[in-house]
Amino acid sequence: MKVDYIIVGLGLAGLAFAEELEKNQKSFVVYEDNSQNSSIVAGGMYNPVILKRFTPVWNAVKQLKTAIPFYKNLEKKFTNKYNYSIDIYRIFKSIEEQNNWFVACDKPLLTNFMFPKIIETKITGVIANYGFGKLINTGRIDTNSLLQDYRKYLLKKKIIENESFDYTQLKISKKTIKYKKVKALKIVFCEGFGMINNPFFNYLPMQEAKGELITIYAPTLNIDFLIKAAVFVLPLGNNYYKIGATFNWKDKTKEPTPNGKQELLVKLNSFITVPYTIVNHTAGIRPTVKDRRPLVGKHPTYQNLAILNGLGTRGVMIAPTIANELYNHLENGLELDKEISIARFGYF
Ligand SMILES: Cc1cc2nc3c(=O)[nH]c(=O)nc-3n(C[C@H](O)[C@H](O)[C@H](O)COP(=O)(O)OP(=O)(O)OC[C@H]3O[C@@H](n4cnc5c(N)ncnc54)[C@H](O)[C@@H]3O)c2cc1C
Repeated sequence: MKVDYIIVGLGLAGLAFAEELEKNQKSFVVYEDNSQNSSIVAGGMYNPVILKRFTPVWNAVKQLKTAIPFYKNLEKKFTNKYNYSIDIYRIFKSIEEQNNWFVACDKPLLTNFMFPKIIETKITGVIANYGFGKLINTGRIDTNSLLQDYRKYLLKKKIIENESFDYTQLKISKKTIKYKKVKALKIVFCEGFGMINNPFFNYLPMQEAKGELITIYAPTLNIDFLIKAAVFVLPLGNNYYKIGATFNWKDKTKEPTPNGKQELLVKLNSFITVPYTIVNHTAGIRPTVKDRRPLVGKHPTYQNLAILNGLGTRGVMIAPTIANELYNHLENGLELDKEISIARFGYF
């Protein structure tokens, strides 16, 4: 089999790069082993405001301009819905936070997203003594459905192998690479936290963060917006809500833990007073990087090996933009932005 590209990993990064290749009529084959599931369990929210400090997320407004049409196209491609507009209500903890909100509302980058009034509405079952700050033009991508549809699509085209990529079998020459029976011009690694097993790129400083989420059923909590306090309460419809997420920098396993669940429940119970039952508990490892920027670029020695990783906590917004930038770098020789290029780490 001869292809232009091999992609290793089909999370949000692999999917975004596969879409770039399709757009440009390049052939490819994907290897996926289900060893990581960050993209599958993710809350899937997109929001360009850091909810702790009310400051802009790095490049987010620009990334959204690429991301929203990208997901809209996928909705058309698979005639399915993935993008749900959802406002965010941030519970204020103090008068000081309310004041900080108004200051942030005036920042030119954020005016389209931050509603310049305090929401005083009482919501049954929600403790919010200082009211809410409301974010608009935000939403959620149903990453789980999207990835399921995408895998089915690749399976139908017979261009996905459900197996673990074996790095020792990769034969690299100047112009081509060979992997088992596949000959390709280039390979792009999109393994998320799985990068730590990749001998070509595991010198890069990933500082992964495990996250756990629970799903609850709360029949008397009637909200169609996300509430953010100590944790987020994300409406999924029919009185189901995703609650998350924890941040754990020590635990490298992707399994949910009793401690993670306990932490989520204590935080949830600090502001939600209606009864609920837990119906699901999941976990994943976010591929975050020491400097909180993506990992994009060619291998310093082998120019036909590349990486698309480091999507961190905001893969939904970042993936389409950096996939496009990597494609233009590999195919059209465009320079990568220094902030995302792995050249910033040198080579050890
Ligand atoms: C709890 C939680 C909540 C989150 N919430 C949000 C959110 O609300 N909004 C947001 O934007 N982001 C969120 N994120 C972050 C987001 O999930 C990540 O940024 C993004 O999913 C990373 O995508 P990825 O493709 O780089 O990695 P992954 O999703 O980890 O994908 C990597 C893929 O590579 C495969 N793989 C790895 N090694 C190999 C191998 N050797 N052979 C074959 N296949 C391999 C894995 O099985 C996996 O499918 C959240 C993450 C977590 C954990």
